[in-house]
Amino acid sequence: MSEADCLFCKIVAGEIPAKIVHETDRTLAFRDVNPQAPTHVLVVPKDHYPDAAALAAVDHGLADDVLKAAHAVAEQEGVADSGYRLVFNTGAGAGQTVFHVHVHVLGGRGLTWPPG
Ligand code: 5GP
Ligand code: ZN
Repeated sequence: MSEADCLFCKIVAGEIPAKIVHETDRTLAFRDVNPQAPTHVLVVPKDHYPDAAALAAVDHGLADDVLKAAHAVAEQEGVADSGYRLVFNTGAGAGQTVFHVHVHVLGGRGLTWPPG
């Protein structure tokens, strides 16, 4: 289930290169091209859903898979113990720019609160 002209669908399809760090049957994780922390990885479901609200509405455990993959990435990156942040920017007003749902896994430095 992909959408034409979706950047992350193209990364999932291998049509646009990305530094892939983790993969499951239903998720893919790759490094953000413009990292905001030493660890900055994006975890996406391979199927196209536009945002976290759409992901939450599907009733087959996909959101669970994305969350588990995000934690696996944090462990793999060595930030699980020091602390890491998961961010779903949801909607343009929250800074979402790519409308294929993705969770940012950020870590490897101190993270302040509140976010900008
Ligand atoms: P959003 O602003 O939608 O929450 O996050 C989109 C993220 O995708 C941004 O952090 C941005 O740096 C990243 N991004 C945009 N284009 C590309 C790309 O072509 N490859 C990769 N790996 N990341 C991208
Ligand atoms: Zn997509």
